[in-house]
Amino acid sequence: MTVKGQSENTIYLRSSGKLPALAFSLGEDRLGAAKMGYIDTNILLRIVDSTKDQYTIQLSKYRTAYIDKSFTKPDSSKVVKKNTYLSNSFIAKGDSLFDYVNINLEEKLPFRTWMELNPSRIMLEIFGVQSNTNWVTQLRSLKEVKNVYYNQTEADVMQVTVELTHPQFWGYSVGYKGKALSIKVKRQPPSLDIRKLKIAIDAGHGGTNAGATGVKLQLAEKEYTLLFAKALQKTLKKVGVKQIIMTRNTDTSFDNKDRILWLQEQNPDFLISLHLNSSVKAEINGVSTYYKHIGYRPLTQAILNRMLELKLTEFGNIGHFNFALNAPTDFPNCLVEIAFLSNEDDEKKIAKPVFHTQVAQKIQLGITDWLKSLSPNFNTRTNR
Ligand SMILES: [Zn+2]
Repeated sequence: MTVKGQSENTIYLRSSGKLPALAFSLGEDRLGAAKMGYIDTNILLRIVDSTKDQYTIQLSKYRTAYIDKSFTKPDSSKVVKKNTYLSNSFIAKGDSLFDYVNINLEEKLPFRTWMELNPSRIMLEIFGVQSNTNWVTQLRSLKEVKNVYYNQTEADVMQVTVELTHPQFWGYSVGYKGKALSIKVKRQPPSLDIRKLKIAIDAGHGGTNAGATGVKLQLAEKEYTLLFAKALQKTLKKVGVKQIIMTRNTDTSFDNKDRILWLQEQNPDFLISLHLNSSVKAEINGVSTYYKHIGYRPLTQAILNRMLELKLTEFGNIGHFNFALNAPTDFPNCLVEIAFLSNEDDEKKIAKPVFHTQVAQKIQLGITDWLKSLSPNFNTRTNR
């Protein structure tokens, strides 16, 4: 008998490269197929099928994913591969900066994570694993992690729940330390005063990547995102923010993946990405904010609410968005598509320096509203 994934056609590879990611499908979208998430390098991948650029990975008996071939490399380890591996003990503890949940495994296996609300919790699935875990240590050095538990939800899928103390997610990253899968959890900053926070501003495009072009005045998106970014930097400085980091200050090329890696190193408290929208339909106009992970939605809602005070049309608050800089789980992030360069009236506004200052002020007020809403004394019924 040949079970799927055990056929002679199965080959084993390892993940590799810069930010390797799994996809749910082979779907083609302007921004690529919907990401299941980033994985780590050197993860064992069971390849069962292939198209021109993608491999099909058998994650577990009933689950598959897709990976770009450029994110794979040969597996040099000589050990015989199994379809399932065992999990071992977990240990959850904090150091002076972060909380960690370390899950001991026999092999580096594929995983995916997502966020859930009420209570806020990080969900993790590990594929190709059967539980041998009878020991989940939780130490008092944990500050943000409230509870850690797991469930064997399928014969070869383990689901781990990491319940958080605060309703707001402040970020996490997942990767292997040896064969232990480690979830590094960021804590809520000790003060939610905007002046005490480290804020990242990302001016979209730049250099050889010009972005969209205006319909009448031919404004270049890369030029104007930088002007809006600088206006925001100025406004934040004015209200007393000390730590502001900019992905770019000049007209320079900076690949989105490199931006992500750089931002992960910088470890900001949150990120604001600025872009200008474009549509083939000239009548479409207005402002929109975007997030990928549900735990980061509140920031994007707060900013949109303030932006709408500028009498811009509501284009919407958009979730599950596949923009590169919405993808990291490491810190809250919000993409603001300020207005449409493809709409004449919007483009006219975008051209005006006074509008840059107004937008910057509204974004700052949105951030402040969001931070206020997180204070324990805030009446949640007014949080709309
Ligand atoms: Zn853009």
